This record gives sequence, C-alpha cells and structure tokens, in this order.
Amino acid sequence: MKKIYFDYAATAPTDPRVIEAMTPYFFEKFGNASSPHSIGRDAQKVLEESRETLARFIGAKAEEIIFNSGATEANNHVIFSLARRLKDKGNHIVVSAIEHHSVLAPIEHLAKEGFKITYLKVLGDGLVDPQEIKKAITDKTILIAVMHASNEIGTIQPIAEIGKIAKENNILFLTDTVQTVGHIPVNVGELGADFISLSAHKFYGPKGIGALYIRKGTKIDPYLVGGDQEKNQRAGTQNVAGAVGLAKAIELCQSQMNDEMSFQTKLRDRLLIEIPQRIGGVKINGHLTKRLPNNAHFSFEKVDGESLLLALDMNGICSSMGSACTAGAMAPSHVLKAIGLSDELALGSLRITIGRWTTDEQIDYLLTKLPETVKTLRI
Ligand SMILES: *Cc1c(COP(=O)(O)O)cnc(C)c1O
Repeated sequence: MKKIYFDYAATAPTDPRVIEAMTPYFFEKFGNASSPHSIGRDAQKVLEESRETLARFIGAKAEEIIFNSGATEANNHVIFSLARRLKDKGNHIVVSAIEHHSVLAPIEHLAKEGFKITYLKVLGDGLVDPQEIKKAITDKTILIAVMHASNEIGTIQPIAEIGKIAKENNILFLTDTVQTVGHIPVNVGELGADFISLSAHKFYGPKGIGALYIRKGTKIDPYLVGGDQEKNQRAGTQNVAGAVGLAKAIELCQSQMNDEMSFQTKLRDRLLIEIPQRIGGVKINGHLTKRLPNNAHFSFEKVDGESLLLALDMNGICSSMGSACTAGAMAPSHVLKAIGLSDELALGSLRITIGRWTTDEQIDYLLTKLPETVKTLRI
C-alpha cells in the first residue's frame, strides 16, 4: 500500500536536492574541519559558508551560530549551562507549560536540584499571556523559555512581545524555533531572543544536525567539552556534510517560503473546515489563525486516539496524536491538559501535519477515510 505521510512535525523527508548537495562531503570532500591540511581546510571553508547561509536566513551574524546535533542538544545546552553559570545570580526559571520535552526535562532536573520554576499557564487556544511573564519575574529569574510555535497544536506565540519583556528586565530568553525555521519567517532581531534552537530535519534537511543561535555578547559556557570546535562552545568533530545539508535545506525553504505557506495554509484550512463538517463531536485545538500553516489538530469525543492512529495506519495514513515523544505512552499530552482538555478529549486527539509533498488528493483521501474510521471506533 502506498503510504501517505501526515507527520511532518515529527520529521520531514530529506529533500533530494539536499542529499545531492551533501554527497561530495562523504566522499572526496570528507575532511575534518579542524585538520590543517588542504582537505581539512576545504571542509572548514564550506562549514563557514553553511554557517553564513543559516545566519543570513535568520537575520543573525555567522559568529552567533553554533552547529550541533539538533534542538534537543541546543535546549539542554542553554538550560544546563546557564543554570550552572548564573547560580549566584538566581535560581528561578520561567517556562511555558507547553514546551517540548527537550526544554521541560532539563528544567525538571534543575527543579530537583533546588531551582524554582514558574510554569506559565496558557489560554484555551494555547497562547501564552505576556502579562503573566511580567508577573512571574523575580530578581532571581535567570531565564525565560517560550517556544515560537507549538509542535503539537501549532499555536504561534507573541515572541517579540515576550522578548521585549525579557530585555526590559535584563533576563535571558530562549525560544525554541524548531517548528518555525524554514516554515514561516524567523528573524532573531524581530523575535528579541538571546537563544534560538533549531533542527534541520524539521525543514527537509538531514537528521542529527541543528544549531543554537547565541546573541552576540551573551555569555554562556559549553555543554559538551573536549575540543575547541565551534568557538569553544561545542566540542566534537563537526558534521560538515550535515551543515551543508542544513544550509541547502534552508536555502530551498527560503526560496519557496511564500508559495509553500499559501499552499499549505490552503490544505490545512480544508482540514480545519471540512473535518468538523464531516464528523460530529470534534474540537479543533490551537489558535485558528495564529497557527502554523502546516498544522491541524483535533480531539474527537468518545474515540481512543491510539486506536485511531493504528486504524489510519492500516489504511496507509501516517499521522500522530501529538508529539512523537508522548505517543506510545498512555498519559494524556501535557500540552492538551494545559489548554484545558479533559483526559477523554486529550486521549482522543489527532495531529495532521502536512508539508512539501502533500497533495490535494492526499487530503481528499484523508477526508474520506477519517469519518469512516472515527465512526467504527466510536464507543
Ligand atoms: C522536534 C522538536 C525538538 C527536538 O528536535 P531534535 O531534532 O529531536 O533534537 C525540539 N523542539 C520542538 C518544538 C520540536 O518539534
């Protein structure tokens, strides 16, 4: 059976043009970017060009970019090294309740070590209220972390406003931009964040490469030590082929962004409009307009989400209940609980995320199969 992929928020297929750009760096251009000989220097050169490409795309300077293994590492890096570095200044962190686990889990570790955490409540549409951040800040606050857009429900946060509050209060600000870089415009100047994290595989690049943006002048220690790569901020032999792939992927996203945004918004809106027309007892989760162009998220009354996923999979449809990390576990998603859903609705959820290769025909197929499937599963 032909598979239809509706899980682009978990990972996207690598664009063939990205693989083509990367291939020489596994063969004749295989060098270690730290080697002083010519093969090494060539690797170093293309690594720096890739850094410049990414920087240009997000409105940063090349020297503000650290390549690493992805956003999980970037988020851990920021949280753990700031906690250590700033422990004499304070032990309080402000974080939204709907962050990805790669932000929440390090913070939970710190809580066990005595840090005080304020988890920001969100409104029913998943929006963080910047006024709540103002109220939460104390003179012990060392970090604010709010993601740019939710990987589960697609809501886009008022990051610029939060960035302003962070700056006025002289507090460092991390925003996880995994779901937005390459998909909607991301400019570090406009966001006002001190750190942003991203992963190439979420925008048609390879897995295992990502980056951390560190605003110039911001002091932070390395998380991985044992080498002076990445300006002493991230030890380890650099993933040159990966960086080339990331840069190519972002270039492609930039050149196609307006078209992709309008095309995906059109398909997404078909889902947001037509699914509630065809199926009763359904709730749309997330903000209707402040929303990623590729995300549609629903909860169905009296349906077990895991059974729904399996049944759709049997029909060749690959989708998700929310984040890949919570799927498989029976606990309702922390994001859906935070927007006020009952356990029943949280466990009856379906996330459809679309991308570069989604077609109208695939949406048609889903719109026929989903109502049938929900009907047979409903208790
Ligand atoms: C996928 C994802 C991550 C983690 O990215 P990795 O590539 O797995 O490290 C972090 N945050 C968000 C919002 C994500 O969607």
